[in-house]
Amino acid sequence: MAFTLYALIQTAILFTNAIAVLHEERFLSKIGWGAEQSIGGFGDEPGIKAQLLNLIRSVRTVMRVPLIAPNVRLRQRRTLVGSKSMMASRRALKAVLIDLSGTLHIEDAAVPGAQEALARLRQAPVAVKFVTNTTKECKRTLFERLRRLNFDLQEQEIFTSLTAARNLLEQRAVRPLLLVEDSALEDFTGLETSDPNAVVIGLAPDHFNYQALNKAFRLILDGAPLIAIHKARYYKRKDGLALGPGPFVTGLEYATDTKATVVGKPEKAFFLEALRDLNCSPEEAVMIGDDARDDVGGAQNAGMLGILVKTGKYRPGDEGKINPPPHLTCDSFPEAVNHILEHLLGSK
Ligand SMILES: [Mg+2]
Repeated sequence: MAFTLYALIQTAILFTNAIAVLHEERFLSKIGWGAEQSIGGFGDEPGIKAQLLNLIRSVRTVMRVPLIAPNVRLRQRRTLVGSKSMMASRRALKAVLIDLSGTLHIEDAAVPGAQEALARLRQAPVAVKFVTNTTKECKRTLFERLRRLNFDLQEQEIFTSLTAARNLLEQRAVRPLLLVEDSALEDFTGLETSDPNAVVIGLAPDHFNYQALNKAFRLILDGAPLIAIHKARYYKRKDGLALGPGPFVTGLEYATDTKATVVGKPEKAFFLEALRDLNCSPEEAVMIGDDARDDVGGAQNAGMLGILVKTGKYRPGDEGKINPPPHLTCDSFPEAVNHILEHLLGSK
């Protein structure tokens, strides 16, 4: 009974509202108020007609609510359906990519709880790979450092931007001038470097002097391709933030009016290459890192989920520097692992 009465009232309101909408303009002209008359005018000329019109418009606004509300509900329902279908398109998690510097460790100090969190992650049915933009250390040195810090990993699980650079040099069959630290040279062993016809630039604090950069500049002017390990603006050291290779790469680009080929994060090709031997698509992977642009933004551009940790180079507000924002921003690597174990393993 109550439902029938409610339905009748709703029908009457809808009908009245429709009539009001259809006849409002005609009514306005009959009482001498054109459609151009704004509500704001009533305060200046509060005549009887204005007050009547104001009343009618107020009633109309109230009566419109039943018309508007279902539309809002429909939009909300569509949004929910949309997000559910997005979840449906994301497949079960198969792989976790983990940044090293700033995420698992800062120089020779591990992030608190990171070793134990990695051990917990390894209990889950997901592959783990360590992806790093390091340019100063070869893969072996990185591996030994992490083992000293008691992290459970294998050397072949590390994929670095140096490896990506070497792959590109071999594909192009060029002879590089290597502007990298001596400790990184091991990863380029066997490549022909005499009479260089390409420039590879990483972070090389001991080699970034005028003579070395000028040699690179002249080679590039002569047509040598400029290959950047990555273009990070800065990174985190024990004594604070420090310049990354980005400013030096950009300096050579500016001087020679060329664009570098970047091989490390955040390049999509880097993430796809890291996933290749895991037999895993980007939609089945998540990346954890302390660099909003290079780790999280890059991974998400490649189709992965990205988790930003507030350790290492993280600065307040970094999560707002990328669009879309990170899937999750959390205090540290152990918290990221908790999120994966609790929320991502079951998604299908
Ligand atoms: Mg990092």
